[in-house]
Amino acid sequence: MTRFLIASFVVTFCLLSSPQKGWSQSAYKQGELIVKLKSSKGSIARQTFVGKVQSEKGLNLRKAWGKMGMYHFSVKPGQSLQAKIEELNLDPDVEYAEPNYLLQKTDAVGILEEFSPEDILAIVESEGVEALGVDESVQQAWAFQAYSNNSNGVGAMAVDSRPIVAVIDTGLDLNHQVFQNTNSIWTNSGEIAGNGIDDDGNGYIDDVNGWNFVDNSGSIYDDDDHGTHVSGIILNVDQSIHVNPATLVPAKIRIMPLKFLNGSGVGSTSDAVQAIYYAVNNGAKVLNNSWGGYSYSAALHEAVTFAYNNGVTFIAAAGNDGSNNDSRPLYPASYDVPNIIAVAATYDSFNLTSFSNYGNSSVDLGAWGYFINSTIPDGAFGSSSGTSMSAPFVAGTAIQMIVQSPNMLGYQVKQIINEQTEYHSVLDGKVYTKGRLHPTNSINYASGASVDSTQPDYSTSYAGNRELASSLAGGGGCGMVSEIVSNYKGPGSGGRPGGGGWPVGNLPGPKAWYILLVVGILLLPVAIALHLRNKAPENKRRHERFIINSGVRVQVGEKELVGSVSTISLGGVQLNTEELLENGGIVTMTIQSPTGEEQIQVNGQIVWREEKKAYGVAFQDAPLSALDRISLWTQGLKKSS
Ligand code: CA
Repeated sequence: MTRFLIASFVVTFCLLSSPQKGWSQSAYKQGELIVKLKSSKGSIARQTFVGKVQSEKGLNLRKAWGKMGMYHFSVKPGQSLQAKIEELNLDPDVEYAEPNYLLQKTDAVGILEEFSPEDILAIVESEGVEALGVDESVQQAWAFQAYSNNSNGVGAMAVDSRPIVAVIDTGLDLNHQVFQNTNSIWTNSGEIAGNGIDDDGNGYIDDVNGWNFVDNSGSIYDDDDHGTHVSGIILNVDQSIHVNPATLVPAKIRIMPLKFLNGSGVGSTSDAVQAIYYAVNNGAKVLNNSWGGYSYSAALHEAVTFAYNNGVTFIAAAGNDGSNNDSRPLYPASYDVPNIIAVAATYDSFNLTSFSNYGNSSVDLGAWGYFINSTIPDGAFGSSSGTSMSAPFVAGTAIQMIVQSPNMLGYQVKQIINEQTEYHSVLDGKVYTKGRLHPTNSINYASGASVDSTQPDYSTSYAGNRELASSLAGGGGCGMVSEIVSNYKGPGSGGRPGGGGWPVGNLPGPKAWYILLVVGILLLPVAIALHLRNKAPENKRRHERFIINSGVRVQVGEKELVGSVSTISLGGVQLNTEELLENGGIVTMTIQSPTGEEQIQVNGQIVWREEKKAYGVAFQDAPLSALDRISLWTQGLKKSS
């Protein structure tokens, strides 16, 4: 019953852990990859692929999505994941192969305050519902749901025809009175609970209320708090609980909880992809996605495209690193699929919150995301901040629009929501619409709108992304290469400690080889001279290096090593370890602060190697929270000469 314990410790834990929140997890699941085949269903290539890959490449099959020609493999201990991905991408039958990237929830700091239902009632009685921090337009919008259900809505609506919003997240406290009393949890009518049979033949046994992709079971719980909080916002707990949880009336909507994030709010792309297909195949019309990651995944892109082609609206949090998604895209929010509504977080004042990501062309609009009250596990309530909290305001609006116009497609839902935003100059240049969500206007507009029966064609353009990665990095063509390339360009990711002009370890393609050869011959004398003078001149100009001498744990594939970090900058570290490491290899480092009191986790690539087992490691996708800590740590440190 971990979740009950977690609920009571959640305040302390999150405050303590807040400096390390953000994107501190390693970027992909060690030793796992996803492959998509080009061949059509039933072809020889597809039938023989798994056997071929297992015997010739020594990979283990973890999961096959036969209909899609998609496979999830793990490499054997000691095998290089990157090398296997590069090999697979050269296979003419392979559409793409990529690491199984990790994704993370997008709340800024976890639950900040926790309330009992009595606390909430007391606050509302003394200060009014505005004290809960929700704008009047939201209150009016949710009045559609909380107050007029019986008279002009769900009373006449068959329970099983209420539209479904899938919350793809950490799970849900199904027993929470708010969800119980509003009868708002989706039930799979084709499934008989607990009989151990996949009654409806959808591939999932006893998926009565959704699916738990972490445990691979039908048992839904929330061992974080995030999914329960997000779901409550969709139901607008703020609005409804001040009436009195005991007198809540049935909701007009159903929530389908799909758990793919674990108790730390981290999940894998393979599970996210399955959750999206599950949601769409089981009838969800709106998907709430309060999570993301900075690595481009073709598999995730394709899953969102599948949702689009089925008319589903896809709401995605913009992220909490205070960065610009136009220049450093966060996925899924930044895919260009036309059903994605990417949401930034605002204060009540319309200003973007300090933590919210933004993007003049890649983020659609703002919505409330600061001290938002909602449900948390164990029947409790709490407030939290983040674009995770903003996305469900939009998802709640979108699903209420579907209540009004059940056949409205995702493309039109997005158009209306964007057109109906409330303009404010402070959002000009920050989000595409220059405005904040206006729930009432959007829902009203949807109720009177003529519903389009078609939407523009869209096909997944991951091929373009692969070509981009290939042309820049020289032909590896996998997501990892694209990530390395974007690291060289992106803000906050820093430069390479070391003078090597090429991402070592990625095989350049034929054209790039030619250019390399010519440039190499011309520059060889210069390069040798520079190398002899100074091994890392370029980096020293980009980031100041400091002498740190801290402990570090290094994860390389399945191995964990210990060592020390002798110098550190915002771009990378000099790492010393007794083990021989491969140039170009990817590592995950847990670096201690100079005092030993804190640690940060960051991924890197080995970009140079000296004798005596000293390595230059360039940070990859370093979370801003980690860079913040490094800036703080180095204030008291001596500069490296
Ligand atoms: Ca089933």
